[in-house]
Amino acid sequence: MFIIKNPELIRKKILSLKLKGNKIGLVPTMGCLHEGHLSLIAKASKECDVVVVSIFVNPAQFSPKEDFNRYPRDIKRDISLLKRTKADFVFVPDVSDIYGADHSVYVTEDRLSLILCGHFRPGHFRGVLTVVAKLFNILLPDRAYFGQKDLQQAYLIIKMAKELNYPVKVIVCPIIREKDRLAMSSRNIYLSKEEREKSLAISRSIDAIMDSARKGSKDIRKLKEQGLKILRKSALRIEYLEVVELPDFCFKKNIQAGRAYAVLCAAYAGKTRLIDNGVFRG
Ligand code: AMP
Repeated sequence: MFIIKNPELIRKKILSLKLKGNKIGLVPTMGCLHEGHLSLIAKASKECDVVVVSIFVNPAQFSPKEDFNRYPRDIKRDISLLKRTKADFVFVPDVSDIYGADHSVYVTEDRLSLILCGHFRPGHFRGVLTVVAKLFNILLPDRAYFGQKDLQQAYLIIKMAKELNYPVKVIVCPIIREKDRLAMSSRNIYLSKEEREKSLAISRSIDAIMDSARKGSKDIRKLKEQGLKILRKSALRIEYLEVVELPDFCFKKNIQAGRAYAVLCAAYAGKTRLIDNGVFRG
């Protein structure tokens, strides 16, 4: 496994492997790896000849008020975990390798990036799309693996790849959960015992909505109310709980048979912002 910091150097190495006919799979991460990340790497190694994992805490996707400095980092542990996977390259640039002092070009999207997480985190998806575009340009993947855990992000990246003509197939992998159904996240290590207990209300409310929808409830306002009841009891600070129609994240009144929907939630347990979602068919 090669650990490389320099964008030009890794690009050269990957390009030569690509020209020999190898399929390149990319797994972008912000490190502090857990089973969710490892599941993406496992899928990439099944489908590609060369697996590249990037570890980069991207300052452009954090607002000044957010936790960029506090975001958990443990590169030693990450590397030792990665040695036990089929990752061939780990790309670990510094901020200055990715953003020069005069950096002023960004990738923006004007619709899906403005709702849900984009509404509550202005500029967040601009930072995400910019760094993912850069990773695509540096690491030249044929396939890139993202988690359903960040559903809105995954759909935005699919849209960017399509609309900016990146020759990359974007693959969305299932959410890996703890035994008690808390979605795995690098941020879970911030949670106190009490906060962690409270945060289970998120997956519980999503599961309850999907269960009712599967049993035939059609009224989205009522479905949301049912989920909110569970969340409110938990004393989490709710940012949003929404049911949208996929693939466009449209707000609708009713569930229609045969269409795909997502329940998405963001809430704070103390200072820690948690997100989760579930996807179902009407
Ligand atoms: P992050 O390091 O949090 O930026 O995540 C890197 C990638 O791993 C993103 O594509 C996430 O959606 C994905 N990911 C994070 N948590 C999970 C999880 N619990 N299950 C599956 N994928 C995940």
